[in-house]
Amino acid sequence: MIRYSITKPELEAAVERAKRGWLKKAALKTEAFRNAGDFNEPDSKNSWSDIKSAFIQLQKNKCAYCERQLGHDRRSRIEHDVEHFRPKNAVRRWPAEGSKQKYRFTTGDASEKGYYLLSYNIFNYTTACKTCNSTLKSNFFPVYGSRLTNTDDFTALKAEQHLLIYPLGDVDADPESLITFQGVLPVPKVKSGEKYRRARVTIGLFELDTREDLNRQRAGIILALWTAHRFLQTPGISDEDRTDAQRIFDLAISAGSAHANCARTFVKLCQQDAAKAREFKELAAQIVLNA
Ligand SMILES: [Zn+2]
Repeated sequence: MIRYSITKPELEAAVERAKRGWLKKAALKTEAFRNAGDFNEPDSKNSWSDIKSAFIQLQKNKCAYCERQLGHDRRSRIEHDVEHFRPKNAVRRWPAEGSKQKYRFTTGDASEKGYYLLSYNIFNYTTACKTCNSTLKSNFFPVYGSRLTNTDDFTALKAEQHLLIYPLGDVDADPESLITFQGVLPVPKVKSGEKYRRARVTIGLFELDTREDLNRQRAGIILALWTAHRFLQTPGISDEDRTDAQRIFDLAISAGSAHANCARTFVKLCQQDAAKAREFKELAAQIVLNA
């Protein structure tokens, strides 16, 4: 995961460009839910899809959570789901009953109502792939503190100590300050405390460390980066070859590229500990060969 920086006025402007008048209607709907005490809108009236394009553009066509590139053209918009970070309806307890995932810390109780006041809050949206959104995140929202479903005040909501990481704007921690990589494998950046818990749960819930397609894609990126790194070390390399190798680095670490967090971590490692980078390259090669 990486952060996609944007301010509130910038996101509001992007949303209004996608659908003029959307914010005003969203505010009216939120007040209606506040008066009713729950999210009572029929599916046919849901209008968050109207502003999907603003989020697809901000996230550079990538899933907010697994960093896969999804389709770019209009027809491919179906691949991107508008995801409610805090569920608008009932929240289930996570890990679900029977899950193999076990945690030594509390991950919150279920809630019947869910975060009904955030159903039309733009800083409660991301776009995500169907595996991350529908299959894995579903209506889970693990928290370390007490769940607070009756407020849309983000300052108050901090008391929940939510465990998943929200990657848009600066309303949450930078995902790269919590999750790093050992080769293709995402791992918590620190070994204990809040940052550890949040990284562990985000990796665990989205299965970022066990999904074969993600590991294979990251392995391909690591092989390309190692090759470019070695190329740049070669004595007498031509200016043209140097430029091409540098382009591979620049492209891989840019926010618009798939698995940028993994690529950025590996590029740093190539420079700081080439022997370790070589080990990870070998493991990546095995993943690619065994695919
Ligand atoms: Zn995803």
